[in-house]
Amino acid sequence: MFSTKYLKNILKISHSTFMYLCSKLSFMSFKDLQLNRPILRAVAEAGYDNPTLVQEKTIPLVLAKKDVIVSAQTGTGKTAAFALPILQQLFDKQDASKRGKKIRALVVSPTRELAVQIDENFQKYCTYTNLRTTVVFGGTSIEPQIDILKKGVDILIATPGRLLDLHKQDVINLDFIETLVLDEADLMLDMGFIDDVKKIERLCPKEKQILLFSATIPYKVEQLANTILTNPERVEVAANSSTSINVNQVLYYVPKKNKIELCLHLLRNTIKGSIIIFRRTKFGVDKLEQTLLKNNYKVVSLHGDKTQNDRQAALNQFKNKEVNILIATDVAARGIDIDNLDAVVNFDLPNIPETYVHRIGRTARAGKTGTSYSLCSADEKPYVATIQQLIQLQIDVIEEHPYPLDPKAKKEIHKTPGKSKYKKGRKSESSKKKKKRWY
Ligand code: AMP
Repeated sequence: MFSTKYLKNILKISHSTFMYLCSKLSFMSFKDLQLNRPILRAVAEAGYDNPTLVQEKTIPLVLAKKDVIVSAQTGTGKTAAFALPILQQLFDKQDASKRGKKIRALVVSPTRELAVQIDENFQKYCTYTNLRTTVVFGGTSIEPQIDILKKGVDILIATPGRLLDLHKQDVINLDFIETLVLDEADLMLDMGFIDDVKKIERLCPKEKQILLFSATIPYKVEQLANTILTNPERVEVAANSSTSINVNQVLYYVPKKNKIELCLHLLRNTIKGSIIIFRRTKFGVDKLEQTLLKNNYKVVSLHGDKTQNDRQAALNQFKNKEVNILIATDVAARGIDIDNLDAVVNFDLPNIPETYVHRIGRTARAGKTGTSYSLCSADEKPYVATIQQLIQLQIDVIEEHPYPLDPKAKKEIHKTPGKSKYKKGRKSESSKKKKKRWY
């Protein structure tokens, strides 16, 4: 193989032009990104051969100390896109004066699970450096977090509420922040964290690098970026509207009242391996979980009303393969690195077609095959049309099953005059209390 230096010399081009060409031709390696040895070693140990597109585009900009807005979804390798260059910068410029460590990079994440996941990534990539990282989030005891912070860390990953709490208690000093990362900014704003985010930004020094990552860039994210970023560069890794050719997609038309029976039927006869079942509501997730447990399936669930410990335990059990079924709402599962699934079940069809693409993209990763099963009741038929329009594909309909939907069936209407279609007490007590958390 030709060395990078050799190629640059014979082509008589600068390093940045070379990087640009590499990214276009996609034969860039992590070495070409000018990462140093301890980081390259950790990356090799993680099993990464080449940088992903978002890494190719983002890492040079971060190393050049630019503010960057990156629009990329989970699964694109976006965490390493900011973690690797941040580690490199901190590693290269260490405080010689051994006076306790100062927090120099801060990553703000909307959800606790995502914060834990980002910290796991940093831990993995900093194995061969002397840099220290930790994560703080709410819903769990603050004391152990204070103990770790007092020992000193270089990188802090935090959810907004707990971060401000710890700052108020004078445990965290943000005066030395060099890089601030706002991850999943759109979700952060959806969850009502805008004021917290602005406050956190103001608590950091004026002169700093800001990296904003967001799956989508709606107007409110653009507005936030305009107020706090300086001449940002933009990286866009196109939202994937094409579904992986390795995902076998099938569709079952079924009356709403028979969805649970059909789901049980499919689990008994058709769907095997590690499975994620998506439902639209927390109530729906709980209901299906109870039914599957009663039928002796090994199942855990994920939604916003669960305690932090329950959520983390559920994720661990699923990732460690102690259970093979995870039921989740879209937002609770968002940003979480659960992939390599054998099957995705759309128990409820999403009303946003991109969500369908996102859901089924969790299976059939890295050249493997997987299947998505969508259960469609009469009222969800319009969703199938918009999904098929987006993916430019007709999803195979399976007609042979025990609970077919009458093709003429209309939307099922609950007709008790003067009464809500929802059962009394449908919302759990904790759900009613936590008005702010809607996912
Ligand atoms: P993320 O989008 O950051 O959640 O990353 C999704 C998954 O991709 C994680 O499991 C990472 O470990 C993995 N990953 C990140 N970068 C690479 C790479 N360059 N090559 C292979 N896998 C990667």
